[in-house]
Amino acid sequence: MSESSDTTEYEAPDHVGNPLVHLVRRYASPYKARYLVAVVGTALAQVPQRVPALVVGVALDAILLSSASYSLPLVPDGVIPTTTEGQVAFTIGLLAAAFALDGALSWLAGRVAGTARLRTLHDIRVDTFDALVGREMDFFDRRQTGDVMSVLNNDVSNLNGFGNNAVQGLRFVTQIAVAFAFMAMLHVRLAALLLVLPVGLGLLGRWYTTRVEPVYEDVRESVGRINARLEDSIDGIATVKSFAREDRERDAVADASREYRDRNWSVIRLRLIFNYSSWSVSSFSFVGLFAVGAYINLNGAPPVLGHSLTAGTLLTFLLYSKSFYGPIRQLMLDVLDSYENALASSKRIVAVLETDRQANETGDELDVREGRIEYDRVDFGYESSDEQQLTDVSFTAEPGSLVGIVGPTGAGKSTITKLLFRFYEADEGAVTVDGQDVTDMSPRSLREHLGYVSQDPFLFYGTIRQNIGYAVDDPDDDEIEHAARLAGAHEFVTGLDDGYDTQVGERGESLSGGQRQRIAIARALLREPEILVLDEATSHVDNETERQIQESIDALAGERTTLAIAHRLSTVRNADRIVVVDDGRVVEQGSHEELLERDGLYADLWRVQVGDTDAVSEAFLQRARAEDRPSERIESAVDGEVSR
Ligand code: ADP
Repeated sequence: MSESSDTTEYEAPDHVGNPLVHLVRRYASPYKARYLVAVVGTALAQVPQRVPALVVGVALDAILLSSASYSLPLVPDGVIPTTTEGQVAFTIGLLAAAFALDGALSWLAGRVAGTARLRTLHDIRVDTFDALVGREMDFFDRRQTGDVMSVLNNDVSNLNGFGNNAVQGLRFVTQIAVAFAFMAMLHVRLAALLLVLPVGLGLLGRWYTTRVEPVYEDVRESVGRINARLEDSIDGIATVKSFAREDRERDAVADASREYRDRNWSVIRLRLIFNYSSWSVSSFSFVGLFAVGAYINLNGAPPVLGHSLTAGTLLTFLLYSKSFYGPIRQLMLDVLDSYENALASSKRIVAVLETDRQANETGDELDVREGRIEYDRVDFGYESSDEQQLTDVSFTAEPGSLVGIVGPTGAGKSTITKLLFRFYEADEGAVTVDGQDVTDMSPRSLREHLGYVSQDPFLFYGTIRQNIGYAVDDPDDDEIEHAARLAGAHEFVTGLDDGYDTQVGERGESLSGGQRQRIAIARALLREPEILVLDEATSHVDNETERQIQESIDALAGERTTLAIAHRLSTVRNADRIVVVDDGRVVEQGSHEELLERDGLYADLWRVQVGDTDAVSEAFLQRARAEDRPSERIESAVDGEVSR
């Protein structure tokens, strides 16, 4: 539920005012004419809709009881036939015409309102998505995927629900207004007396909404809790089962469900009270109206109620009064409810729409002449973190060289490469490409020249061909195959039943981790970037694949500057330079041989990796012991999983 997420994270800026009004102003105005037709049509349709009750009352008096002449408000007497047969035919004609006109107007209004509403929502949805994907990475770091998705899913459909209900609300209000206008033409004082009904129901509704509001919040909260509980249990089902903890999960779900049940009961109880009291008001008004009407009809009106009342007029009044109850109740229950929802949702939508976004186009065009990358005394801390993740990072990647970045998990290796792409910006110092500070470059031009294969490459739902071709507009098959060969993916792809047309499943789940990475490398290479960044690109692959990729990297690196975050030190053994990062600082750099000779952190990591644990320095061992899980670290390091 949208409400279960943290709404304070989505505050609409102050200048916006009421966010719902803001959205309506901005997104409904292109369809002004349609909305106008819808509103006028809906309101006008209420006139013919109220006519039958009026006509039936008049016909009853004039034709069946012969107690009064046939006369209708707003209709000149000359138009009305004088014979009984004529009046019967006139009545039938009038009823049929009223129904037909009502039908036509309602249909038109419904159609126009429907299309206008859908177009408005479409615009809001697309703009909101556009604003979302345009946000800087920090925005996504601070939020859960489900939370961000709920802005697009729940919040936009809440607006839809409100749009629907707003039309209903308008219908109810005009329906009541038209009925009162007609009643006032027949018997103004009795109509005034009957105002008790909408006013009384309105007051009840107000009482109900103020009481139910806080309880609703509680219910939504517990719905959120149940969902989170269920998601956790089902997502972690393998773990649940492996520990045979199904009972515990059941108990936890039962607790959440019990809380939901109790809170929901409070809502149902309030709703029942409201339903029954409004039903009573309506029913007793009906009885009261009949009693007063019959009394006036039989005995003449007391002075305060003015003139007498015919049986037909009483019937018309009774029919109208009965038709108020449902709509007013619904107005109170549904329309107000959906207004509250829509208000909360529009706040979140406006917060996304109206805040600064990182413009892909602003900034200079990057001009890659040689491909020299330089990090110059870079300090950086994530906004969402209190700590500084990089301190005084300096190194240079010469044109066409391969630079390996190694170090323990969490040292800041990925962060270093993210600054190159301007996913984040350095707090101090500069990252430059051929002397151009990346923070001056437009994100789009940076990303056109730089290829990136992330730690956990994302494959989109679709075929392998589509996934490799993702980065360019109309890739031809030869280009795709060429890129796949370079990435060492061609062989396994052609071995699959459908080759390049194999569906990869959601997030590429039908492929192994190594296969996914090779496809991601092919995707990056297809753009022929001048600079390539591989982030732990070889962490998931077997030795044979690793060798293939390493060959590819070696082959590629000659042509383009490559930064490779290495998981296994052997991958970057041949690198021109290896930058060793520890706790956000560059602690050593040089070639493999130079670093071994230095006998520092790299040398220790290398010894662990090749299984020469006896030779590991005492300092390294002490440090490993000081970490949270020393033995695991060492063991995994021995397995060749140094930095995990
Ligand atoms: P490495 O790639 O060396 O494993 P990272 O660059 O991923 O390390 O992370 C460096 C540090 O920054 C870690 O302490 C990590 O927890 C933190 N970090 C990484 N990404 C974010 C983020 N988006 N927001 C806040 N902290 C982060």
